[in-house]
Amino acid sequence: MLELGNRPNNSSMKDLGILDGTAHWNLTPDELVDITLSSEGAVRTSSGAIAVSTGEFTGRSPKDRFIVKDNITTNQVWWGNINLPFEKEKFDQLYIKMINYFEGKEFYVRDCFLCADRRYRLNVRVVNEYAWSNLFVHNMTLGPDPKELKFFEPDWLVLNAPGFRADAPTDGTRQHNFTIIDFERKIILIGGSAYTGEIKKSIFSALNFILPVHYNVLPMHCSANIGSGGDTALFFGLSGTGKTTLSADPDRKLIGDDEHGWTPDNTIFNFEGGCYAKTIDLSPEKEPEIFHAIREGALLENVGFHSGTNDVNYSDRSKTENTRVSYPLNHISNAVHPSLGQRPKNVFFLTCDAYGVLPPIAKLNPAQAAFHFISGYTAKVAGTEAGITEPVITFSACFGAPFMPLHPIRYAKMIATKIEDASANVWLVNTGWTGGPYGTGTRMNLPHTRALIKAALEGKLDNVPYHPHDVFGIAMPEHCPGVPSEILNPRNTWANKEAYDHQAFELANAFMKNFEKFAGQASADIMAGAPLTKELS
Ligand code: ATP
Ligand code: MN
Repeated sequence: MLELGNRPNNSSMKDLGILDGTAHWNLTPDELVDITLSSEGAVRTSSGAIAVSTGEFTGRSPKDRFIVKDNITTNQVWWGNINLPFEKEKFDQLYIKMINYFEGKEFYVRDCFLCADRRYRLNVRVVNEYAWSNLFVHNMTLGPDPKELKFFEPDWLVLNAPGFRADAPTDGTRQHNFTIIDFERKIILIGGSAYTGEIKKSIFSALNFILPVHYNVLPMHCSANIGSGGDTALFFGLSGTGKTTLSADPDRKLIGDDEHGWTPDNTIFNFEGGCYAKTIDLSPEKEPEIFHAIREGALLENVGFHSGTNDVNYSDRSKTENTRVSYPLNHISNAVHPSLGQRPKNVFFLTCDAYGVLPPIAKLNPAQAAFHFISGYTAKVAGTEAGITEPVITFSACFGAPFMPLHPIRYAKMIATKIEDASANVWLVNTGWTGGPYGTGTRMNLPHTRALIKAALEGKLDNVPYHPHDVFGIAMPEHCPGVPSEILNPRNTWANKEAYDHQAFELANAFMKNFEKFAGQASADIMAGAPLTKELS
């Protein structure tokens, strides 16, 4: 076993059972980039970033994400079609197979930690088959300084082998790829998929169990930033709703773009050390912070190029609609370091409503806030897939159900208490369609969304008149600086008002149908935040 690079004292891959091969420990980003360019088929783009293809998978595979059912998880995890159980014995068998897979290979080890609030620091050792995956881990996590690295001891281990394929019938997986979290052994196994989001979101899922259960910290699928006066804002939302885009704001300091904790003493902290932004149709005019962060050290995934050049063509969707870039937080000029904030003053629930029903911004009362948090609504358009023209309705509890091992009501109760104690304003922001549903209307103008959020943050919506939405009951402001008043009530933007009313009730009915599974646990205070329903012919 050859062990090169920067290795903590008393650490060896032999401890895992890998006896032969070459382990590169904690290489610098430059070293990883060189290897990636020379032997992994990556391309250096004209802005200095590198670009790779992730192969078969260009997104997460939620049906292949398992949790080992053991003494720790059996009675705590909310089992179902999101949190899929996995047998201990099968896990042990796969672990050994993966160790054998690394045997004799050249691979990359990274020692890092998660959680910017050091009281909750989680040390993780990640073993990657590819150098570029190791660069992703470097970009997205926090790094021990050289002295800390010497004495680094991992709490968790992640084995990431995209080239390893499980044999579903004998290994207990659904198919050849898998992500499996074992809370007892503190090991995550990722095989068969090179999509880097699997690494990020599996560690996130582990934290979403550990933090509330052991530390009474609320974990959140949200971005966060701070105003010049020190006020913190949170932006919750499912994929594609605008967490990363809207938290990158030249007038506010970025805490983080995706994963945060809210502590009992009201500190907001980022779990990660980097951002993972979507790059489809990225432009320097609309999203300057993100565009300019894509430079040396950044890792682009699945983008295309203008022919004959190394200039990225951000509108190229030939590999996927989900083109991505990871970069460390210090690529954003106004990021705070360390990534901490205080008791939030404003909380935004972002939804990309492709039905064009929800208002561009509305204020929620506590009941509505709880109802919408548990519902976690968005409706996406299914990208460029052939034949799919209708929006796909999604309810994902806590705006992040795929990553939440506990019952949603547990997180919901925590956030309701915290929002009340902080006296935070809660806003619902529709970053999706206006003027009609997908196909008729248009995507909400990004400068308008930014202006609405800015007005909310600056208190400019505190003293304007509001009126309640007919079906959802949420309070719509009648004016907002920088935004035409006509668009503030979505009904006004539809040519056919009856069609709007019908669509609004259809959406409300879908909310209520989804909520049936929580009705047993949801109190009357929460149900007071539900929309009206109507039987439709
Ligand atoms: P993920 O959880 O997958 O990281 P996210 O919530 O961070 O998703 P973003 O990366 O911010 O989502 O994606 C929002 C996308 O929608 C961006 O590509 C952005 O350019 C686009 N967009 C278009 N119009 C708007 C709008 N009005 N508000 C926000 N985003 C918009
Ligand atoms: Mn994001």
